[in-house]
Amino acid sequence: MSDFKGKLFVFSAPSGSGKTTIVRHLLNNKKFNLEFSISATSRAPRGEEKDGVDYYFIDLKTFKNKIKSDEFLEWEEVYRDNFYGTLKSEVARIWAQKKHVIFDIDVAGGLRIKKKFPEETLSVFVKPPSVDELKIRLKKRKTESEEKINMRIAKASVELATAPQFDKIIKNYILEDALQEAEELVGNFIGLKEK
Ligand code: 5GP
Repeated sequence: MSDFKGKLFVFSAPSGSGKTTIVRHLLNNKKFNLEFSISATSRAPRGEEKDGVDYYFIDLKTFKNKIKSDEFLEWEEVYRDNFYGTLKSEVARIWAQKKHVIFDIDVAGGLRIKKKFPEETLSVFVKPPSVDELKIRLKKRKTESEEKINMRIAKASVELATAPQFDKIIKNYILEDALQEAEELVGNFIGLKEK
């Protein structure tokens, strides 16, 4: 398999749009040969999250040192003092396994990856039905305070305006439809032939 050409799949969306569900669904389908890009973050673990599985949890100082030493492909201060970023070593790790990389990252980070790897990247924006629906979904999740939820909602309106800059937009109104659409997009980009 020396002709393996690693692809990058960026799924970006406002928090609560359902992108994580879509990304997990794609990862479970082995025919796509995908591996999740584990981001580094300076935020604390939530709920059941595990270091080295959901994120590489590092403190703010370590994060800033890694920025200085140019270890990130992209990084963002997504919320105040909460930094998130993709380590260059993460993409190298996954491509070395001859797998494609799938990202669950914020809009700005997603667009930056597309810019750095224009040919290899398929950037997908996952669109929620409305900002009100986002609020309902975030409240149901019950993992964050009212203040944090409001912070995410405020950011969502800004993020929604960036949708046209992505290669593709998936409307996540009915989950089943969104999952099928995501499968088709990934399959086509990899060049999988349907039997
Ligand atoms: P959460 O705190 O809910 O896990 O993530 C908050 C936001 O940060 C989400 O929109 C998530 O997609 C984004 N995010 C996670 N990892 C990265 C990353 O490596 N880079 C960037 N730019 N954003 C990320």
